[in-house]
Amino acid sequence: MSTQSWLNQGSLVLASNNKGKVVEFEHLFQQLNLPVEIIPQGKLDIEDAIEDGLSFVENAIIKARHASKLSGKPALADDSGLCVPILGGAPGIYSARYAGEHGHDAANNQKLLADLVPFRKEGEAIEGMFVCVLALVTHAEDPLPQIFQGIWKGEILAAARGENGFGYDPLFWLPELNVSSAELSKADKNKISHRGQAMQLFKASLV
Ligand code: IMP
Repeated sequence: MSTQSWLNQGSLVLASNNKGKVVEFEHLFQQLNLPVEIIPQGKLDIEDAIEDGLSFVENAIIKARHASKLSGKPALADDSGLCVPILGGAPGIYSARYAGEHGHDAANNQKLLADLVPFRKEGEAIEGMFVCVLALVTHAEDPLPQIFQGIWKGEILAAARGENGFGYDPLFWLPELNVSSAELSKADKNKISHRGQAMQLFKASLV
């Protein structure tokens, strides 16, 4: 039996309105086969929280508390993004709104490509990493949010490749696999991605 008492509450709100993320979570949760209904916050008409933290973990907790407060249910939030060390960690927590407008993937990718032009050197890769922090709160004032973090290292391409995924996937190159993240199937991406890694830790917390 699990020590996680929130499992007895019958449902868990997924604190995200990002379609790309929600699709990946649906697949990840199917594999966990939990005895709870997973409800994306959009189904409860819960709008995005104001993310005014300075780190992924702060924003993940803000989102989870917001969804839990408005739903009265336990909530799991994902704050994620792409960090490029040569840019001081940018886009980082601003990944979704890097070019200004929230969730404008094409504009965000264009800005990242433009920002990296001065750093490109023949024969040298530009390192990047996807980061995912999951925060689980059992209620809105939970003093002990549970945190699960995944980091996925790769390189930043000079031009987009692939049609799958969302966000910065077409610019994220996996040298060992010789593909971009947008050339992986959803199932293959979930096996190795930052989100997949964080979900493995979440799964391990359930036993
Ligand atoms: P959030 O919804 O505030 O956590 O913003 C997440 C943003 O990070 C997304 O809008 C994407 O731009 C980026 N991102 C996070 N995870 C991924 C991924 O798996 N693939 C591509 N981009 C991602």
